Amino acid sequence: MDFKSISQLKSLLNENKISVKEIAETYIKRIKEKKELNIFIYFNDDKIHEQVKEIERLPNDLTLKGIPIAVKDLFCTKNMPTTAGSKILNNFEPSYESFVTQKLVDQGSIFVGKTNLDEFAMGSATNTSYFGNTINPLSKNDNPLTSGGSSGGSAAAVAADLCLGATGTDTGGSIRQPASFCGVVGIKPTYGLCSRWGIAAFASSLDQAGVFSKNVTDASILLEEIAGHDQRDSTSSNVQIPSYSKNLNPSLDGKVVGIPKEYTVEGTSDEINGVWEDAIKSLEKKGAKIKHISLPHTKYALPTYYIIAPAEASSNLARYDGVKYGFRATDSKSLDDMYELTRSEGFGKEVKRRILIGTYVLSAGYYDAYYLKAQKVRKLIANDFLEVFSDCDLILTPTAPSAAFLLNEKQDDPIKMYLNDVFTVPASLAGIPGISIPYGKDKQGLPLGIQLLSKHYNEQEIFNAAFALEKDYE
Ligand code: GLN
Repeated sequence: MDFKSISQLKSLLNENKISVKEIAETYIKRIKEKKELNIFIYFNDDKIHEQVKEIERLPNDLTLKGIPIAVKDLFCTKNMPTTAGSKILNNFEPSYESFVTQKLVDQGSIFVGKTNLDEFAMGSATNTSYFGNTINPLSKNDNPLTSGGSSGGSAAAVAADLCLGATGTDTGGSIRQPASFCGVVGIKPTYGLCSRWGIAAFASSLDQAGVFSKNVTDASILLEEIAGHDQRDSTSSNVQIPSYSKNLNPSLDGKVVGIPKEYTVEGTSDEINGVWEDAIKSLEKKGAKIKHISLPHTKYALPTYYIIAPAEASSNLARYDGVKYGFRATDSKSLDDMYELTRSEGFGKEVKRRILIGTYVLSAGYYDAYYLKAQKVRKLIANDFLEVFSDCDLILTPTAPSAAFLLNEKQDDPIKMYLNDVFTVPASLAGIPGISIPYGKDKQGLPLGIQLLSKHYNEQEIFNAAFALEKDYE
């Protein structure tokens, strides 16, 4: 049976046309059949059957009862290990559940497994994972493509029909870019909308949880379930979470959509610019007013991000010392030696690069020149958005400068890899929400995504516009 959406599966369940057990079995079978894509770091059918017994006892009116969900392996889960894609957390079994995953458990969802990711979410191709690359399910035969990153496993799981929704985290684009590469919907909400509690930290002032799904309605259902205030995360916002899915409204009459000139960058394919143009025309046809805008500090976003994110990472990752968590090197002669060996053997190349950059930009003498300067520029970037949103409701841009690239294409060139984030990083620095939805395909038939941004806590407006645009491809 083909399950297209959360609401369709819920109706089948409510009408007793399918049981939670049958859903679980269907997805277990599918996951086993797609094993070669390396989408899951952890998958255990016995664990799924254990959950089914619990879920069957829950009331039927729970929003996500029986809905198969994949969890990025950066979220701590009580009944499944959590690795963050790193050797240093290999076989780490958290004793608690993250805020976001607890909410999904409480609503009765089935966790089908923990998905692959770039090590500690650092990357754009799910190729820095200790557990190997994830292959994009849309790859053709001999040319395996990347699923994007860092939440590449989650995006691929939705695209390959191995779940109906998945959690992700987005620090500089890690939900939106893989969503674009895999042809699914991915939303990064406003910073602070979903608690970071229980998510392995990468860059705490940027990290934000969000979701992947097959359509906009499902994304709105999932986000309203995982959002909410949490005292254990001091940056968690205490705001009322609207019922996004019930309020979905495709009307764009009178809405003003900004098109930033800085998002026309060299190297972006004509096809992507074409898809952007199509979406602009469609918005106009649906009653929106198009406004050409400028976000003048956009060009500084990538260098700013690649100072702030590694700085915070170098501090956050100091906790992995072989004492408290996971892996510990065995052949050490002293305590210092143990720290050194554990971190040298436990972290991969990209994580080490970030720790080195981060330590450098935070060190005495360089702090003012790099870290402090980057913080100031971050403020300017955020102010650009605030100014634009004084007379625009939304901003429309491409999600990424290319479609999914070959698995190892940018592997040896970190700068090329970092350039991938050019359209996603500015919104992360500003803490504003953004969605990527599939909108057209390139000549090879690969999906291309467009990104909608809005001001803080304006997820509803984003969902509404995405819902309207999605109809062009129904
Ligand atoms: N690609 C970006 C990086 O490597 C963003 C990653 C993310 O959002 N987690 O830092």
